[in-house]
Amino acid sequence: MIDSTKHQGLRRQLVALLKEKGIVDQAVLQALADTPRHWFMDSGLESYAYVDKAYPIAADQTISQPYTVAFQSQLLALPVGAKVLEIGTGSGYQTAILLALGYQVYTIERQGELFKKTERLFRKLGMRPKRHVFGDGYKGYDAAAPFDGIIVTAGAPEVPNALLSQLKIGGKLIIPVGLKEQIMTRLIRKNEKAFDRTTYGSFKFVPLLEDKN
Ligand code: SAH
Repeated sequence: MIDSTKHQGLRRQLVALLKEKGIVDQAVLQALADTPRHWFMDSGLESYAYVDKAYPIAADQTISQPYTVAFQSQLLALPVGAKVLEIGTGSGYQTAILLALGYQVYTIERQGELFKKTERLFRKLGMRPKRHVFGDGYKGYDAAAPFDGIIVTAGAPEVPNALLSQLKIGGKLIIPVGLKEQIMTRLIRKNEKAFDRTTYGSFKFVPLLEDKN
């Protein structure tokens, strides 16, 4: 896949814009500067890759806005090598950012068409999450728990208990909570039972859907 000097230039401009919008974490800014977003866009929309907006991908889902990806990654702020679970692989763009940050990434997608498409893309790009799982992330991923961080990239009606229980002590859950609009929320696990909760601005995500079977 091609990453031209034109793409790289557009990416530098995007990163400058994200700084203006308040992203300060150098590792996050570098990860966005290094990761070609156009590789993760649907065909026909590649030319919009460096516009700071969400765009449609397969199965009525969206590739998150770069600002949102940067904002959530900045809230996660974990050391290199940390074990991170992503709920909602979608296009794989946020996954690529987490990998660029040096995390061990587990990522789950419930939508079959998207899962297959993104699995092919990961192979093509030589991207290596620890696991790319097809299933319901509402339940987390018990097989690899506990995690240093969990990042949810779809709007959750409430915080799923399974995700809280799969955090290490000191671990962080970054989750947009709400129905029509979501409040970005960070929960840090203090001990077995207690979590510190901090809320940030409002965002718009496609819904986190629970598989009821
Ligand atoms: N990180 C992605 C965001 C995609 S949109 C990107 O930047 O492209 C959110 C994704 O969450 C969609 O692909 C949707 O199918 C998925 N999703 C929704 N509910 C889910 C669930 N319960 N488990 C796993 N994935 C889910």
